[in-house]
Amino acid sequence: MSDDAHSELRRELAELTRSARAWAQWVHDSGVDDLGSDAPARRGLGMLDGDIPIPHRGVGLTAPQSRERTPAAATPTAATPAAATPAAGASESARPATAEERRVRLAVLAEQVNTCTRCRLHETRNNTVFSRGSAEAELVFVGEGPGADEDRQGLPFVGAAGQLLDKMVAAMGYNRDDVYVCNVVKCRPPNNRKPQPDEMEACMPYLKEQLAIVDPKAIVGLGGTGVQGLIGARTGITRMRGSWKLYRGRWPLMPTFHPAYLLRQPEKKRDVWNDLKQVMRKLGKEPPTKK
Ligand code: URA
Repeated sequence: MSDDAHSELRRELAELTRSARAWAQWVHDSGVDDLGSDAPARRGLGMLDGDIPIPHRGVGLTAPQSRERTPAAATPTAATPAAATPAAGASESARPATAEERRVRLAVLAEQVNTCTRCRLHETRNNTVFSRGSAEAELVFVGEGPGADEDRQGLPFVGAAGQLLDKMVAAMGYNRDDVYVCNVVKCRPPNNRKPQPDEMEACMPYLKEQLAIVDPKAIVGLGGTGVQGLIGARTGITRMRGSWKLYRGRWPLMPTFHPAYLLRQPEKKRDVWNDLKQVMRKLGKEPPTKK
């Protein structure tokens, strides 16, 4: 081997070693200590082949209030940019990701959704509708699927139902952009029909990953279809609403009526407000006494 080839090989080896060290450091910082368990963890997350696994923000249901929300560890470095982070698994014990990391991961996921052809809904969509709001949100709202306004703008809950949702959010003491809003399906079902079970199933890995990244303290499921998509329930929303469920054994989920339903049945707003007050208490907020 010539001297030039030899030094090129040494340079490449040094580069590889640096990358491997940076990767090992990232894994260590993110708290993942069992790389061998990656495959089951990916299955558990319902991840898509080729997806980037998500290290969870550690949250136990027994102590949701004490969750760290401004973690310092696991900062991606130039050697391990967040979007290109190798498989870190989805360990329940992984330390929380940084805010920047969550934003990058959501952006990567949104890009995957943007080109998704997993179900027939892609054929008729104008835009995919991924989310709006904060990647740092402690509260997430999950609806059914985009309507015409959302399909046009590429944003969830921007039509009449969305305006009512914004009022509900404000009544809870949040700014519109403090919460995270998304849907079970990311493309508009034609003629505003309900998403079909196979469409929801095809889209579910995206929602699962979204929720794992945002890792909220509580989720509000809006309407029967949204809640059924989330927890596979068959019970109607009228019976389910108002009592806490657990999403994936980990995230408290409050089912309530969909704002579009409230536009038709305004007398049900009182029920929804009672449900939202429970959510506020879960998040350590004192609901106003009169509403
Ligand atoms: N209804 C939904 O369920 N989602 C939206 O984004 C808009 C209306």
